[in-house]
Formats: sequence, structure tokens, C-alpha cells
Amino acid sequence: MERVLNFIAGEAREPIAGEWLDVDEPATGACYAAAPASNASDVDAAVRAAAAAFPAWSATPAGERSRLLLRLADLIDASLERLARAESVDTGKPIALARRVDIPRAAANFRFFATAILHTESALHDTDATALNYTLRKPRGVAGLISPWNLPLYLLTWKIAPAIASGNTCVCKPSEVTPMTAHLLAELTNEAGLPPGVVNVIHGRGAEAGAALVEHPAVPTLSFTGSTGVGRWIAETAGRALKRVSLELGGKNPNVIFADADLDAAIETAARAAFTNQGQICLCGSRVLVERAAYDRVLAGIVERGRALRIADPLDDATEFGSLVSAEHLVKVAAAVDRARELGASVECGGERTPIAGRCSAGYFYPPTVLTGLDPMCEVEQEEIFGPVVSVTPFDGEADAIRLANATPYGLASMVWTRDLARAHRVAAAIEAGIVWVNCWMLRDLRTPFGGAKQSGVGREGGWDALRFFTETKNVCVKMEEHA
Ligand code: NAD
Repeated sequence: MERVLNFIAGEAREPIAGEWLDVDEPATGACYAAAPASNASDVDAAVRAAAAAFPAWSATPAGERSRLLLRLADLIDASLERLARAESVDTGKPIALARRVDIPRAAANFRFFATAILHTESALHDTDATALNYTLRKPRGVAGLISPWNLPLYLLTWKIAPAIASGNTCVCKPSEVTPMTAHLLAELTNEAGLPPGVVNVIHGRGAEAGAALVEHPAVPTLSFTGSTGVGRWIAETAGRALKRVSLELGGKNPNVIFADADLDAAIETAARAAFTNQGQICLCGSRVLVERAAYDRVLAGIVERGRALRIADPLDDATEFGSLVSAEHLVKVAAAVDRARELGASVECGGERTPIAGRCSAGYFYPPTVLTGLDPMCEVEQEEIFGPVVSVTPFDGEADAIRLANATPYGLASMVWTRDLARAHRVAAAIEAGIVWVNCWMLRDLRTPFGGAKQSGVGREGGWDALRFFTETKNVCVKMEEHA
């Protein structure tokens, strides 16, 4: 049995109360590791370590912080195979996907912020020659970073990198469902030479360890990625204490396909956007809206691709589609499909658990599932499922497409497929979402702002927005000498 440990002040530590959580390998359903069930005392120890490390780290020259972060990025690259395997075992995602996307993107997160801090600017305002106002930007102290299970390393590093690059120290609380890659990353921070206490990792349940971090009075900055319900509680709690919060929450992302689009590309990407990582990416396109003239072709194409995906042991290099992350999540996804049936949906493919022979026979597998005939306002179309379940719905004209795209409480991501450039811009501007991909999906440029509209979040991560989020401005107003 493997053991995950807390990481405080550069040391691996057992939970103070001696309580542990089982960690399952979802592809087999077997418990393979134990992780700390940390409590408020563990969190307090980590926050103290982070606070103790803050004065020296925030005073460390940017060039030196940059060097250490680049070294960490190199170590992540050098540990690609080990990290990809750990991510695959923890989450059930195909190892090929972890190798190709999750782990390289984690290293890229550190490289981006390690170099961004070498190119910052600060403003100076000359007030009619009577005063000079200049703006200092300072790190805020200890950042609490809470992340979900779907992209465990990549999303956690997306928070750690800007936080520590800009001179904060941090306490991370990864998902208790998938703790292994954060544990391995903690070891790499030591190897990279990061001073003890700059990065601390606490494992445990959200309601206990996560809540203690949110409520800790010495943590003024909180960055959370996870479900909208938990995000709402964090916003309320942090609001009362006047903490700064960034919330990256759920989505129900529309993928709008006009009949004039390159339909082969749209179909191929729509299937990828629906089923990659078993549909467990916040940016997945879970509602495909198709102009009526192209509806039959697009539906048939997505169903064909969904059926063709190779569902197998995630540790097998050739696997294209792995297991869901947990037994609990499997129940939730299956229940959503059952509810869709009750509401009159047709299940065009999938819709029943998929048994896998051999090592994975007790794993939490659920196949790519395509639904049609749902009322856009019904609960299945309004609430996030976060699994390999996509609905396909026809629309008539641009106004109808925009109306349907915006007809949920969420606004995280979206896609528009058309060859009409003017329409692409019009529809992109009208969709209520933090990102609109035109004729593509998941292209990433780390300089762009990232975040959701409506119930999908508050605040922006990525690029300069992240560095601004983790720092505080201070204006210094200097009166000039008066002229004779
Ligand atoms: P979750 O909200 O259950 O948990 C996320 C994290 O919060 C975990 O570490 C959990 O332990 C912790 N947590 C739970 N309760 C807490 C509390 N009361 N106080 C503090 N921390 C607490 O989400 P999940 O099931 O792990 O992840 C899936 C969700 O994440 C989906 O809704 C998905 O859309 C969302 N997500 C959003 C983005 C984005 O960028 N917007 C990215 C990935 C995932």
C-alpha cells in the first residue's frame, strides 16, 4: 500500500490525529494508497510554515525565484513517466493523455510564470509636476490553493506557479480523491531547491482540511477550482473575512455548429470535446447545438466517434477512454442518464455501464453517451454532469443558437463553428462565457485571461491576471520640490 503524506516546511509529515483516507484506483475499484485525513491542526501547522517562509521568499530577487521555478519545471519534465503513471492510476485517465497533456502543461505553467516575473512593469504618474505617484506591487502573504480531481497536477500548478513566482508562499489542498501527483510534486520542490515552507501540501477532506484553510485567519488569498456549490460557500466565508478569492467553477458548455462550418472538423472536435478525459474537463462541450440542416450528419458523426473510442485499462498506452474518477461519480453520471431517459431523451449510444475484462473488471467505467430529444430547460440540460455525456440539439438560425447557448446558469467555455467570419465574431461576442473557441477547442495561450461568467466563477486566472491576483498594489505619492 502506497502512502501519501502531508508536506510542511519541506518535510513529509503524517497527520497529527493519525487519521487516514483510502485512495482508490478507479480503473480497478481497489484501494491502492492511504492519504492523510488532515484536520485544522495540520492546516494550522502548514499555514505557520508558509507564514514563516514568507519574509525571506518575498524578498528573494525575481531572478532567483525564476531560476528555482525553471528548475522545478525541468524536474517535472524529467519525471514525466512517473507523474503520468501516478496521474493515470489516481484518476483513471488514459496514461497517453496524462503524458501528452497534463504533465507537460504542469511544467509549462511553472515556465510561463517563472519568465513572466522577469518582465513586469509598474506605473508612474506625474501629477502636473507637483507630485510623482508610483505603484509598488507586493505579494499578499500565504495563499490557500484548493484544487479538484479532474486535472490534479495541471490545475494545482496553475495556482502554485503564479502564487510563488510573485513572492507568496502557499498551502495547497488537493482533492482527496486524487492526492498522488501533489505528493510527488512536493518532493520535487525540495529537489528543485525551493526553500522549506514556500510550498506546503495538506491532504484531507474538503469539509475538514479545505474548510480549515478557507477559514484560517492568516490566509488572505484563496484560489479555488471546483464545484459551484463549494465555491459559493467559500465566497460567503471568505467574504465575511474580507479575503481575496478567485473561483473557477462548473460549466455546461455549448458547442454551436453552423451548417456552413467545416463539418468534418467540427464533428471530430465535438467528439473530442465531449469525451476527452471521460468528459471530466470543466471545458468539455457537453451541449452540442447544431443548425438543423447539419443536424443528422453531426449527430451521426459524434455517435460514430463515441462508439469507436477504445475503452480499456488506462495504463495501457493505446487506451483512448478510461474510467470515471470514483464510484460516487459513476453513480452520479449514471443517474443523470437515467433521469434523461425518464424525461423522454433518446440514448443514441452508451447509456449503460461498460464491463472491462481482466484487471479492470471492477473499475468505474461508463461509455461515451449521446442524448437527443431533451428540453433545453430540463434539469439534465441545466446542471453539470461532468462525465462522458453529451446532448445534441437542433437550432434554427443565429438568434436561436445564441438563445440556446446562453440558456443555462453557467458561462465557462463555448465553441462556435462557422466559415462566416462576421458571424463568428457576432456570436462570440454574444455568448455569455469566459472563453469562446472559434473552429477549435482547448487551444491554450497562457497569456490570456481564464475564468467563467455567471455561475462558473468569479475572478480571472492566467497571465497577468494571475500575477495581479496574487499581489497587492501600493501607491506612493511623492510631493515634488516647489519651483521658485
Ligand atoms: P469539489 O468542489 O467537490 O472539490 C474541489 C476541491 O475543494 C477539493 O479539493 C475538495 O476537497 C475541496 N472542498 C470541498 N469542500 C470544501 C469546503 N467546504 N471548503 C474548502 N474546500 C472544499 O469539486 P470536484 O468534484 O473535486 O471537481 C469537479 C468540479 O470542479 C466540477 O464542477 C468542475 O466543473 C469543476 N472544475 C472547474 C474548473 C474551472 O477551471 N472552472 C476546472 C476543473 C474543474
